[in-house]
Amino acid sequence: MKTRTKVVVIGGGIAGCSTIYHLTQEGWTDVVLVERNELTSGTTWHSAAQVTNFGMNQTMVGLKSYSIRLYKELAEDPDYPINYHHADGGIRLANTEAQMQGYRHFASMARGMDVDFEVIDAQECARRHPLISTDNLLGGLWDPLDGDIDPAQLCQALARRARKAGAAIYRNSPVTGLTQHKDDTWTVHTEHGDIECDIVVNAGGYRVNEIGAMMGVHHPVASMEHQYFLTEEIQAIKEAGHRMPLLRCPISDYYCRQEKNGLLVGFYEQDCKTWGMDGIDPHFVNALCPDDLDRVTDVLEGAFARMPALMDTGIHTVINGPITYTIDGAPLVGPIPGKRNAFCIIGLRAGLGEGGGHGWLLAQQIVHGEACYDTWCLDPRRFTGHANVELTALKAIEDYQNEFRFHFPHEHRPAGRSAKTTPLTPIMAAEGAEFTVVNGWERVDYIKPSPGFHPTLGFHFDEAFDVVASEVQHIQAHVGLCEVNGFNRIEITGSDRHAFLDGLFCGTVTKRKGRVGLGYLLNRHGMVKAEATIANIPASDRGPARVWYGSAAASEYHDMDWLNSHLRPDKDVEIKSLTNDQTILVLAGPKARAVLQSASRGDWSKEGFPWLSVRETFIGYAPATVMRVSFSGELAYEIHVPNASLYAAYLALRDAGKAHDLRLFGARAVESMRMEKGFLHWKADLISEFDPFETGLDRFVKLDKPDFVGKDALIQRQNDGPRKKLVTLKIDATHAPAYGGASLMQGGTVVGTVTSGDWGHRSSLNLAYAFVDAALSGEGTVLDLDLLGDRVSAEIIAPSPYDPGHTKMRG
Ligand SMILES: Cc1cc2nc3c(=O)[nH]c(=O)nc-3n(C[C@H](O)[C@H](O)[C@H](O)COP(=O)(O)OP(=O)(O)OC[C@H]3O[C@@H](n4cnc5c(N)ncnc54)[C@H](O)[C@@H]3O)c2cc1C
Repeated sequence: MKTRTKVVVIGGGIAGCSTIYHLTQEGWTDVVLVERNELTSGTTWHSAAQVTNFGMNQTMVGLKSYSIRLYKELAEDPDYPINYHHADGGIRLANTEAQMQGYRHFASMARGMDVDFEVIDAQECARRHPLISTDNLLGGLWDPLDGDIDPAQLCQALARRARKAGAAIYRNSPVTGLTQHKDDTWTVHTEHGDIECDIVVNAGGYRVNEIGAMMGVHHPVASMEHQYFLTEEIQAIKEAGHRMPLLRCPISDYYCRQEKNGLLVGFYEQDCKTWGMDGIDPHFVNALCPDDLDRVTDVLEGAFARMPALMDTGIHTVINGPITYTIDGAPLVGPIPGKRNAFCIIGLRAGLGEGGGHGWLLAQQIVHGEACYDTWCLDPRRFTGHANVELTALKAIEDYQNEFRFHFPHEHRPAGRSAKTTPLTPIMAAEGAEFTVVNGWERVDYIKPSPGFHPTLGFHFDEAFDVVASEVQHIQAHVGLCEVNGFNRIEITGSDRHAFLDGLFCGTVTKRKGRVGLGYLLNRHGMVKAEATIANIPASDRGPARVWYGSAAASEYHDMDWLNSHLRPDKDVEIKSLTNDQTILVLAGPKARAVLQSASRGDWSKEGFPWLSVRETFIGYAPATVMRVSFSGELAYEIHVPNASLYAAYLALRDAGKAHDLRLFGARAVESMRMEKGFLHWKADLISEFDPFETGLDRFVKLDKPDFVGKDALIQRQNDGPRKKLVTLKIDATHAPAYGGASLMQGGTVVGTVTSGDWGHRSSLNLAYAFVDAALSGEGTVLDLDLLGDRVSAEIIAPSPYDPGHTKMRG
C-alpha cells in the first residue's frame, strides 16, 4: 500500500470509481481509492441502473448526457466491453396538462445542451411502448437515449482504466480515521496502514456519515429503503422484436424497464421507510433489506392498471436496498463546507445514470478549482446550518413519495418547514403571508388576499399575478415593507480589511466611511464567483470600524469558505458571520423617507443621507444599521436589525407607516421589480460559466488595479472576446413567463438560454434575461423563445426598462 499520494477517494461504488477515473483523465495519476470491502459492495451492486438524460436544469442534463457518452464509449471498448442497453428510449408519463407544460419546458431547456427530448401524446406513448394502456394518460416526455447498464461492469471498467493510468485501488481496506494537519494535508488511517495525502474525497454511499464523523462533519444525507422486483418472461416482450422503452410514472410512482425478456419494476410507495438512521451494521455488505412488497400495494395497483401484462406474470426476485437522499433530492458533489482539501460525492439517488457526470465534474473541481458547468445545484455548500440528518430524512420521505413529480414554479413542499425563522415569521403568517423558502429561511412571498388562497401549480402565470401586481403598484405609489431574512452578512474587521477585499474584488472597493459599494469576486479562471455589497461602518459604541460584506442568503457557506481561504496569518483581518443574528427590513416607495424620518431620529434627507450611504441608528428604540440601496428601483432603505430587536423595529415602522398607508410586500414583488431594473440574481444570472464582461458587469471591473483573483485569466478572456452576452428581452406573450433554461432560437439553432424571467408590473412587459451568442446580442434583435413548446418572439431591449435613469431610487 502506498504511504503517500495526492488524493485518497474513500469508497468504491460508482461515485468513487468515477471520481478516481476522472482524476486520472484530468492528469492526476498519483491517486488512490480505498474500499472497505469489494468494489460495488454498497448500493451500486443491486442498482436498477437506468441511465437517462432527464434533468431539471442544464447542469444536470449536461452531466447526464456526458455519462451516456462515456458509458457508450466504455461499452464499445473491445478490450473490456460491458453490457449497456443504450438508446432503448424512455417515456416519462403525464396525466395532467401542468405536467405536460413542464415536459415542454424541460425539452426547451435540454435543447440548449444538445439533448433532444420529444413531447408525445398518449397514443404515441402506447405505440412506442406496446404494453401500456392509455387510460388516464395525456402523454409523456420521450428521451431517445434512455437505457440501462450493468453497474458492476461499469465500475470495473472505470477502475480498470484508472489503474492503467496509474491510480492505485485498495480493496478490503476500511478507512478507520482521518486526521487533518496544520498544513491542511491529511492522514487517512486504514486497517492496513496510513496514507498521507493532500486531498480526501468522501464517496462512502450510505456510510457517508461514518466517514463524515471521522472529519467532524455532519452531512445532510439520509437513506431510504427502495424496492424493485424482476418478473418472469413476458411473451409480448419476447415477440416484440425490439426492446421495451423505459417508463417512469408520476401518476402511480413506479418505473419499469426490460430485464431479459421480463420486466424490472421499481416502486416509490407512500408508506416509505428511512434506513440506517440509528447506525448501520458494520456487516451490512453486499446486503439487502428484507423484502416488503405489502408496503407497495398502492403503487402496484397503478402499475398493473397501466401494464395489464404484469397481472399474469410471476415475480422471481425482489430487491430492497438503501438509497441516499439529500434535502432537495440532488447529490452533494464538491467541496465540503468549512473544510480545506476535502470533497464529497454523496447523496446520489440516481448514481448509476449520473455517476459518470458527477465524477467528471468533481475531478475538474479538485484539479482546476471549478468545473466546466456552474455546479451550484450540486454544491454541498448550498445547504447551511439547518441541514441536519433529521431534516434531511423528512425531506427524503417527501421526495421519495413524489419521486417523478417535479417541483412546479413557486412550489414549496410542506415537510421540514420552519427550519429557519425570525421573530417576525409568526407575525407575517398572521398578516396572511404565503412563504417561500430561501436557504431554509421562511421568507414572505406575498400577502394572500384570503386565508384559503392557493394558486394553481403550473407554468402559466397563476392567480397570485394580480396580488403581486397590487403589491408592486402600492410600492410604486406609496410605501411597502418587506422582511428579507437570512441575507448573508459577514463582518470584516482589522486594519488590512480593505486590502484583503481589494485582492478579491475585480473592481473598486470603496474605503470611504459611511459608504456602500457593490462589487464582484471572480474565480481564478476570471469567471463570476460572487456578488457582494461592501458597507464601511465607522467605529462606534457598537464596535470598531468594520466592513459589512453582504450577499445572497444562499451564499452563506460558499462566500465564507472563499473569504476564509484567502486569509493570511500576517495580515490583520478578522471575519465573523452575522447571518443568523441580523435580519433586513426593506422600506421601499416614494414615501419610504417620510416613514423612516418619523421612526428614527436624524437627518434622512437626500442630502443628509444620500444614495449608497450607511449609518448606525435606532428605529424607535431598536438598534439598526440603515443602508441607502434599492433592489426595487424605488426610493428604498435596507434596515439591518439584530433579531432580538426585530419585532420592536417592525412595530416602530408599522406605527410610523400608518400615516403613509404602509403595506407589506414579499419576494415575488421584489422579483418582478428587479427584472425591470436590470438587477441580477446570484446563481441564476450570475454564474461561473461567464466572465464579468459577458455578464454585462464591465463597469464593475477595474483592470488597472495592481491585482485581484482571476485578473490574468480575465485579461486573456477579454482579448479572446465574449462568447455570449447577458441581455434583457421583451417576450411577446402574456400567459407565462420565460423560465430559467428555456432556449432562444434562430431558425433551428439554439442561440441563447434564459436565466430569469418575470412580468414587470410597472412597465407592463414580460421580461427575461438570457445569455445569447455575442454576435446576436445587439438591442433590437428579435429571436424566438421556445416557451413551453411554442415559439414566441423575444426582442432584445435595453436593460432597466423602468426608470432607466435610476432617478427614483437615487432621488
Ligand atoms: C433498489 C435500487 C435501485 C436503484 N436504481 C437506480 C437506477 O435505476 N438508476 C440510477 O442511476 N440509480 C439507481 N439507484 C441508485 C444508485 O444505485 C446509487 O445512487 C449508487 O449506486 C450510489 O453509489 P455510491 O458510490 O454513492 O454508493 P455505494 O455504491 O454504496 O458505494 C459506497 C462505497 O463506499 C464504501 N465505504 C463505505 N465506508 C467506507 C470506509 N470507511 N472505508 C472504505 N470504504 C468505505 C462502501 O463499501 C461502498 O462500496 C438505485 C438504488 C437502489 C437501492
